Amino acid sequence: MTRYDITPGARAVLVVQDQIRRAACEVHGASTVETHLEGLPFITRTDIDDPLAGIRAAVAARNVANAEIRRYAEQARGAARTWDEIAEALGIRAADFEELPAILAFLLIAENRPLPFRESFHRLDAWWRCESCGKRVRDHGPFDGHPANNETGHDRLCRRHAADIAASRIEEV
Ligand SMILES: [Zn+2]
Repeated sequence: MTRYDITPGARAVLVVQDQIRRAACEVHGASTVETHLEGLPFITRTDIDDPLAGIRAAVAARNVANAEIRRYAEQARGAARTWDEIAEALGIRAADFEELPAILAFLLIAENRPLPFRESFHRLDAWWRCESCGKRVRDHGPFDGHPANNETGHDRLCRRHAADIAASRIEEV
């Protein structure tokens, strides 16, 4: 069914709700029921008969969503996207916070990492594979103005990293 009358954001919500309901039925044993909206006997909405199955499916969806946000953010960094661009995609707007969006985006991604990958509680890092040199890069976050100072692990001959270093030298002059 095509829905022309709602925004893309609202349509995305309906798609995710539908998938959670489906998982509640297929994985957690619930069944769908059609309920009538109060005062509107001709309009029905699809619900499930076991709300606890709905909770289980929704928790799984939340955990998957968090993991996917991290995975795509690390992929974006590997493809030379900036923390500012990732902040924009995350819906972090400069006007809403005192901190810079890039720093908030980094903290969100780095803090969401599973514990075994954390170096320590004091030193947060993001890790991603650089598409330019193929090496695993440790990203200390956008705290220093120059990307070249925030990343370790690029290959000695990495063109992306060399360009970042050259750009930071030009700004210093
Ligand atoms: Zn590289």
